[in-house]
Amino acid sequence: MNNQTLVNRDLAVLWHPCSQMKDHEQLPLIPIRSGRGVWLEDFDGNRYLDAISSWWVNLFGHANPVINQAVKAQLDQLEHVILGGFTHQAAVELAEQLVEITPPGLNKCFYADNGSSAIEISLKMSFHYWRNLGQTQKTKFITLENSYHGETLGALAVGNVALYKETYGPLLMDVISVASPDCYNREAGESWEDYSIRRFADMEQALARHADTVCAVIVEPLVQCAGSMRMYDPVYLKLLREACDKYGVHLIADEIAVGFGRTGTLFACEQADISPDFMCLSKGLTGGYLPLSAVLTTDTVYQAFYDEYQHLTAFLHSHSYTGNALGCRAALATIGIFQTQDVLGNNRRLAAAMSSVSERFKQHPHVAEVRQTGMILAIELVKNRQTREAYPWQQRRGLKVYQYALSKGVLLRPLGNVIYFMPPYVIAEQEIELMAEVAWHGILLATQD
Ligand SMILES: *Cc1c(COP(=O)(O)O)cnc(C)c1O
Repeated sequence: MNNQTLVNRDLAVLWHPCSQMKDHEQLPLIPIRSGRGVWLEDFDGNRYLDAISSWWVNLFGHANPVINQAVKAQLDQLEHVILGGFTHQAAVELAEQLVEITPPGLNKCFYADNGSSAIEISLKMSFHYWRNLGQTQKTKFITLENSYHGETLGALAVGNVALYKETYGPLLMDVISVASPDCYNREAGESWEDYSIRRFADMEQALARHADTVCAVIVEPLVQCAGSMRMYDPVYLKLLREACDKYGVHLIADEIAVGFGRTGTLFACEQADISPDFMCLSKGLTGGYLPLSAVLTTDTVYQAFYDEYQHLTAFLHSHSYTGNALGCRAALATIGIFQTQDVLGNNRRLAAAMSSVSERFKQHPHVAEVRQTGMILAIELVKNRQTREAYPWQQRRGLKVYQYALSKGVLLRPLGNVIYFMPPYVIAEQEIELMAEVAWHGILLATQD
């Protein structure tokens, strides 16, 4: 088997996600044979440094020996069992762990099998909570501009990516959108904190106006990842928590991308010292091994559903693979690594290394901003650094960086014209240097005309 034969077979039968398939007439698919640590290897023996953690899911490297062992052991015991009316050890242990490590007050865990489903669950649970309390006028959600919460219809509706909204608009429920605290848009000389506080005025106004019809506000804490890695100050979350309490509206924290150490703390909400009413987790939850997600919520929410069967207040949501045993075991092994190693301390060192190798980008004539939150570092390419005029999207400058980087053995996957590093936590400093060096030359090439 070599690259070409597998690619030919692939293109005959497979339709890939997030892809214009016609691109592959020029842009070769990369068939991966194996992975180890931060490295992927294709069928021709080329190696690629996985600088984006395979779409932000991988935390401790591919084929991690600890997680491998845990999944193998579970496999010989129990692969899966129905979670309605039945339970198993891995599901119970993981729920116990998640209750333990998430912010105080999140005492109940509901499983699903991907991030979008976790979002759907949190939206439905919030709505249903108010309904069970007799507050049937609460049917709406408040969301931030530039947000992304997944791609099923409910998740798409509360997200804000323009192309998706335009394309699928007729299928989506109405939401209330407020300005994002995205600090890329702050005034020159304005601090992230000041800008985030200033932006909160919009949210406060929307809550004041719509609280009686709103179930919940949903946000991605600290980093709007799919929305070009735009970042904001924790103070926004603090203000949001206070306002949600004041107006009687739930707060949903979508930590699907930022959870599990990505932003410098185990969960991003910790930096604002808040507990949301719902926390959605997936991606890094299983260390990048298996599809699993969880929604953590409070006893108060749980109790609003807990009643005699005849009252029909039970939550209505299930997936066939809810609480899959192999996924739960991979998640337990992943959490175990956080407990036995100083992951957050090591990440501080790695984040500092990422910062120092990225200094040079700040001077580049086509870089408007280099921003970082923990283990996420993003470089914003623009046509004009002074005016911040963007490159026309049709030029696909980021794609040029992607192609160049692949040819040099680094997997970067720019979001439009934003190049970012979001590597697994087992990356070595030398590999961080390689990643930045390749990105630098890719950017030089992509911006030369
Ligand atoms: C990836 C992502 C989702 C959706 O998760 P899927 O598993 O891809 O459905 C939701 N929210 C955020 C913030 C994400 O990054």
